[in-house]
Amino acid sequence: MEYSKLAEFYSRIESTTSRTLMTQLLVELFKNTPKELIDKVVYLSVGRIAPEYTGLEYNFGEKLAIKALSQVLGLDEHTIEEKVIELGDLGSAGEVLLRDRGMEPKERLTVEEVYDTLLEIAKTTGVGSLKKKSELFKKLLSKATPLEAKYLLRTVTERLRLGIGDNTVMDALALAFTGDRKNRDHIERAYNLSSDLGYVAKVLAQEGLEAVKGIGIELGRPIRPMLAERMAIPSLILKKLGGRCGAEYKYDGERIQAHRKGDQFWLYSRRLENITHQFPDLIEFLKESIPHDFIVELECVVIDPASGQIQPFQVLMNRRVKYVSRFHILKYPVAGFIFDILYLDGEDLTLKPYPERREVLEKVVKTTDRINLAHRKIVDSVEELESFFHQAIEDGCEGLVCKSLAENSIYEAGKRGYLWIKYKRDYRSHLADTLDLVVVGAFYGKGQRAGRFGSLLMACYDPETDQFKTVCKVGTGFTEDDFDKLENILKDHRIPHRHPRVNSILSADMWFEPYLVLEITGAELTYSPVHTCAWDKLKPSRGLGLRFPRFTGRYRFDKRPEDATTEKEIIEMFLQQRQYRVI
Ligand code: ATP
Repeated sequence: MEYSKLAEFYSRIESTTSRTLMTQLLVELFKNTPKELIDKVVYLSVGRIAPEYTGLEYNFGEKLAIKALSQVLGLDEHTIEEKVIELGDLGSAGEVLLRDRGMEPKERLTVEEVYDTLLEIAKTTGVGSLKKKSELFKKLLSKATPLEAKYLLRTVTERLRLGIGDNTVMDALALAFTGDRKNRDHIERAYNLSSDLGYVAKVLAQEGLEAVKGIGIELGRPIRPMLAERMAIPSLILKKLGGRCGAEYKYDGERIQAHRKGDQFWLYSRRLENITHQFPDLIEFLKESIPHDFIVELECVVIDPASGQIQPFQVLMNRRVKYVSRFHILKYPVAGFIFDILYLDGEDLTLKPYPERREVLEKVVKTTDRINLAHRKIVDSVEELESFFHQAIEDGCEGLVCKSLAENSIYEAGKRGYLWIKYKRDYRSHLADTLDLVVVGAFYGKGQRAGRFGSLLMACYDPETDQFKTVCKVGTGFTEDDFDKLENILKDHRIPHRHPRVNSILSADMWFEPYLVLEITGAELTYSPVHTCAWDKLKPSRGLGLRFPRFTGRYRFDKRPEDATTEKEIIEMFLQQRQYRVI
């Protein structure tokens, strides 16, 4: 398959602002892709070389790309840099400069060659790696047409920015290979268990839907996390869970999914990045505590080893460094509170009800001062639930996660549902919980901030339509440092028009590809004529907006845009807020 087909597809996707058209274009692309290449085309289309959990990245900075381009074109780097400034990005600069040179490549690039070379670039590390990466990339560039060069440059510098989400890919796969969007459920389940959409796509294309249904758990391949719904009223929580539930402390740390196969360990973050290297100490603790092959989920926190007291979440962030040293391990000692087990010695436990999974945990985990099970109590009255909640807060937790004890209380990978209900301290303030919203646009500031951004347009996520819908414009809570940091992060995600997956009535001064998630608090949710969240769902021609929004200072780098607070959650928060008022 010629790479030019992919480049043309990118170009069409880039000019569309319609999500329906985006799906159609993907369907067309998948149908025209040879089956054995479908995984590669899926990865490349979402701007990656392999699933996120492999941690494989190009590590090919813009400077290196400019140098490679200058050598291929025989131009000095300065000329290229000027073109980048003029056109706003390296891809466009490369395209124009190649076109100006007017030479057509003799050979055609294929998707296979592009993918294999890019993979080699990503895998090249260590001494002399930059030179080798550059040589590899130059080979591709010298065979590229101007349009291909544009996307090769963007791909290798990790700025493809097409913003094609998993849900859009899954819809398109279902349509392309089964002719029915409904089959997406099977694709989604396989994806939830494997976290590898390329792999699922290949099984689907080559072996069909039945084979996709057979995709299961594998050690070393993360499972997409099960998530909790939120409720603010204990009596309603109990009612929802059938009058009785397993209330567990909600630790405020980092969620980790730990896999063990013999002596091999893998640790994955909430967004399924491979973070094994960050917690060598935790691995040792787990090795001692669970002498089996397993997949468990835990919340990792920093503790004061003398008192066992849990330290605030911010302290743990000091462990988010590239190279963890003895200093970090000693200064920020961690402990793990295990709250679930998904696999044990060859057996998939995800379809077992929660009480059984907990029982397994109690049997196999040898608790130590660093590895414990999440503190839990079975409660069946509001008084008990309230008093356990207070105890959790006193012990440094955020609140409780109340878990269903019913027969159907399986581990629902990749789903947010009422089998787990979180009950947090913040719910007692006026607004039930903070929101994790995605930056989709920005407005210029005034006065001192003229010419730079003064406020950000924030959106929630709607998985039904795979769209980001606006909830507020936020300009408070940011320090000067925050603005600098935001400008720095967002400059790589700026796009010339509203992103096709963003649904907005407001017209922002700048638009961004949905990428960055920020934690936002506010006074209350109200009907809004300008925000598209819940548009027409509760009241005609009205959506829901957040009044007096403020940035809490917490960047949710652990969340992908699709992990942001959903439209459905916001509707529920709005309804719960009303219940509060009645009370
Ligand atoms: P939040 O921002 O409130 O942490 P989230 O979107 O990351 O929410 P939710 O599923 O909504 O995730 O809330 C559950 C989160 O709480 C889990 O992701 C996990 O990190 C954390 N947690 C802490 N203790 C527990 C526990 N005992 N059981 C389940 N999750 C727990």
